[in-house]
Amino acid sequence: MFDGLSEKLSGILDKLTRRGALTEEDVNAALREVRRALIEADVALEVVRSFTDKVRSRAVGAEVVKSVTPGQMVVKIVHDTLVETLGSDADPINLDAVPPVPILMVGLQGSGKTTSTAKIARRLQDRQGRKVLMASLDTRRPAAMEQLSVLGQQVGVATLPIVAGQNAVQIARRALEAARLGGFDVVMLDTAGRTTVDEALMTEVAEVKAQTQPHEVLLVADALTGQDAVNTARAFDGRVGVTGIVLTRVDGDGRGGAALSMRAVTGKPIKLVGTGEKMDALDEFHPARIANRILGMGDIVSLVEKAAQTIDQEKAARIAEKMRKGKFDLEDMRDQLGQVEKIGGIGGLMGMMPGMAKLKDQVSAANLSGKTISRQIAIINSMTPKERRNPDLLKASRKKRIAAGSGAKVEEVNRLLKTHRQMADMMKMMGQGGKRGPLAGLANMFGM
Ligand code: GDP
Repeated sequence: MFDGLSEKLSGILDKLTRRGALTEEDVNAALREVRRALIEADVALEVVRSFTDKVRSRAVGAEVVKSVTPGQMVVKIVHDTLVETLGSDADPINLDAVPPVPILMVGLQGSGKTTSTAKIARRLQDRQGRKVLMASLDTRRPAAMEQLSVLGQQVGVATLPIVAGQNAVQIARRALEAARLGGFDVVMLDTAGRTTVDEALMTEVAEVKAQTQPHEVLLVADALTGQDAVNTARAFDGRVGVTGIVLTRVDGDGRGGAALSMRAVTGKPIKLVGTGEKMDALDEFHPARIANRILGMGDIVSLVEKAAQTIDQEKAARIAEKMRKGKFDLEDMRDQLGQVEKIGGIGGLMGMMPGMAKLKDQVSAANLSGKTISRQIAIINSMTPKERRNPDLLKASRKKRIAAGSGAKVEEVNRLLKTHRQMADMMKMMGQGGKRGPLAGLANMFGM
């Protein structure tokens, strides 16, 4: 999967990383090539557009981390944006319900629905120890029912006995009943498909869904059909509602357009991918791993991640050093607030630590909740570097200017300065505590 796209993207990015400095025009030129590569890979236009827009704005706003090149930074941004487009985290089948858990398989004929039903049943049974019953609801093609029972025998999964003359809803009810009586954990219902999405198909699927209340509705779509697979998914989701996608035939898909667009267009996760005709040819869909495979630049991505961590550590060490000397100016406070903002507010963290209740009260008095942090950073940003290093300079007229510059009131500026004094005192206290005691531990945790 993704062979062509992978080759092109890594070529484009490779050129970027080999350059020393990057201009905005370099980035734009690279993005034009990325755009072309994605379109050739049959990625939906709306996805191409939002992808390149995101990369561009992130690349422009990015702070280039020391010890990596701007090109490497762009690779990391492309990688992260790709992971996000693919859905961020793997999203496995959810069986969190009272057994027997019904799973409804829907999709067009020939998409690989019956094959995928058997593959999934086998996986749930062999790997997760679930007892699975499969039933074919395809009343129009007796061969489809036969096919499922043959596959069932092949993988050692039970199938519902075939009874002639029943309609799909009747078979589904019988399957649920049999699963309950037989102590099955999961019952997989393989619905009938058509060659195109039509009203009769949708009505039948909707009816079965209403009668069986499935915990998962998995849409099986053929990756080789590219954007048609995405449109099919959208149609099924709009009409019956699906919980996830099984994308088949990715083994033959050199372009990858369906895989790349599916999540962004439908909002539904790809849960599994079919990678061949054999019964074990089924993989979980891991966005990060897929992104690595597409870009083939795993080393650069981890290099940038490590470098970014080092920067945080260096900053923390610098502040620790200042603390030991009893110095803590408004620039340090801004760095500190930035780090606290990253970990989601200081109060919550302190609340989790024994013996920190008193300090926590002080902190909330100092108004360090998540939302105020970014306002405080804005106020500090409106000061001149000289003022930040020497807060004593801040008399009434300067405070007024700073308030106007950051859209705050003078009282807020005063409150910030008071917080700074409290923090500076706290820092001094912690600094004197040296490396011992709970406060030192706290200081380390905050990277202070
Ligand atoms: P259904 O009509 O949707 O139930 O489709 P089937 O399950 O009968 O599959 C149609 C054909 O596609 C069969 O020959 C399968 O072996 C094949 N098939 C299904 N999934 C995959 C896959 O992931 N890769 C490949 N290469 N073939 C597949």
